[in-house]
Order: sequence, then C-alpha cells, then structure tokens
Amino acid sequence: MMIDLKGRIALVTGASRGIGYFTALALGKAGAHVVACARTIGGLEELDDAIRQAGGSGATLVPFDLSDMAAIDRLGAAINERWGQLDILIANAGILGTISPIGHVEAKVFEQVMTVNVTATWRLIRSVEPVLLKSDQGRALILSSGAAHKCRPFWGPYSASKAAVEALARTWAGETQRLPLRILSVDPGGTRTAMRAQAMPGEDPQTVPHPSEIAAALLPLCGPEQMETGKLFQVRENRIVDYRMPE
Ligand code: NDP
Repeated sequence: MMIDLKGRIALVTGASRGIGYFTALALGKAGAHVVACARTIGGLEELDDAIRQAGGSGATLVPFDLSDMAAIDRLGAAINERWGQLDILIANAGILGTISPIGHVEAKVFEQVMTVNVTATWRLIRSVEPVLLKSDQGRALILSSGAAHKCRPFWGPYSASKAAVEALARTWAGETQRLPLRILSVDPGGTRTAMRAQAMPGEDPQTVPHPSEIAAALLPLCGPEQMETGKLFQVRENRIVDYRMPE
C-alpha cells in the first residue's frame, strides 16, 4: 500500500540502526520529514543520506542520550517552534539490559533499562503531546515486545519495562480517545538487529526478518487509514495482526 506522508513531520527515537533506522527511512521515502534521535551521529547521518538518495527531504538529526530528561523536555517545544506540529511519533529506542536472574541484576542495569525504556518514553510523550495534538492526523507507535507478556526467565528488567510502556500507551490512548491522535503499541517480533543478536547469541540471524520488513509493516500504521487507538498489535510474517497472548 502506497502511503503519502508529504509535508508530515515524524519523530523517531533509536533512528541510528535497527528497526528505528529502517522505519525512519520508510517514513522519509513516503515523504515525511524525519526528526531522528539516537546517540550515534554516524548512524543518523547515514539515515539522512539514505532518505535524500531516495528522493526524500532528509532528516533533522537530534543526537542525544535518552537518559538526558531535560533534552527530552526541550524536544516538543523545539519541534513546535520549527514546524508548528508533529504528525508521527515512533517511540522505538530501547535497551535489553543484561540477561540474568532477577536477584543478580545490578541496580545500575535495572535503573538504566527503566530510564531508557520507560521513563524516557513517558517524558517523550509528555514533551510532544501538545505538538502531536496540533496535527489533524497524529499517530504514535510505541514499540513493545512479546517479552511484556511472556516474561521469559532472566529477562526481568526488559520484560517489566515493556509491560510498563504498554500500560503507558494504553492509558494515553484512553485519555485522548475523542481527539484525532491515534496511539498503538506494537510488538515487532524477533528482528535481525543488534538487540536481537545480544538477546539470542546462538541464533542464525537469517531466520528472523530484516528490520526493513518490519518497517514496511509499520508504515501503514502511520497513515490516515489507521483509525484504531489503544490497541496492541504485533508483526507476524511481515503483516500487522492483533496481539495474541502467549499460552
Ligand atoms: P537496536 O539495539 O538495534 O537499536 C536500538 C536503538 O535505540 C538504537 O538506535 C540506539 O541508538 C537507540 N538507543 C539505545 N539506547 C539509547 C539511549 N540511551 N539514548 C538514545 N538512544 C538510544 O534495537 P532494535 O532495533 O532491535 O529494537 C527497537 C525496538 O524494538 C526496541 O524498543 C526493542 O525493545 C523492540 N523490539 C525488538 C525486537 C527484536 O527482535 N529486535 C523484538 C521485540 C521488540 P544509539 O545506540 O545510537 O543511541
């Protein structure tokens, strides 16, 4: 399905690699101007080049660490000043932390996972909500994970953080039901990225989809046809489907 996002402004966190990079690229190819966030400037510059090469307007690069809460607080106002509205938010950045029994997780690691995956997502929502509400077609995708429900042994901090962001997304959707803003959580499923390699070191990466396939599935959720809010979807076989709770 072709989606025309010309003139739309899209903010993507974790846009330097993986699912965030390819989602930002797909949005840029569809005509949106991308505001790309991550710490690695090289990855963001590569994204900007790739969008321009594909004929898009490129990306505005915002390199910063999501544990810098003051920087997140400034982002919404900066977008408002420059563009006057935000049409698409992809809250994608996330970290896995270490995989170990809950009782062995270092406090610093637990706090880092909660800071980047949960607190930064809430702070981002709070920062950009006023500009998202200025759009006649605001769309927000919050990246979740099957780990939020499956609660795999040794994935405690990550699982807890993803359950928390889903709760945030659903609460936010409940608060904005009558507005044009549509909010979804999406579990992308196992995807060939750096995070997946860290989580599943023994896995053959070719057995899971490339992040460009996930990005292609996510793109329609950012368009005018997508009218659902407060739902949890998952990507399976490159298609968006209702989330199925694990047994
Ligand atoms: P990657 O590790 O490949 O990419 C993570 C992105 O987040 C990078 O761009 C990274 O940029 C950014 N990021 C991490 N920490 C920070 C920070 N402190 N400040 C700013 N940016 C940060 O992850 P994936 O692409 O695999 O994952 C994307 C999302 O999808 C995550 O929310 C993940 O939980 C979810 N997911 C992924 C699955 C998979 O199989 N890959 C499965 C289920 C869910 P930089 O390092 O440059 O700052």
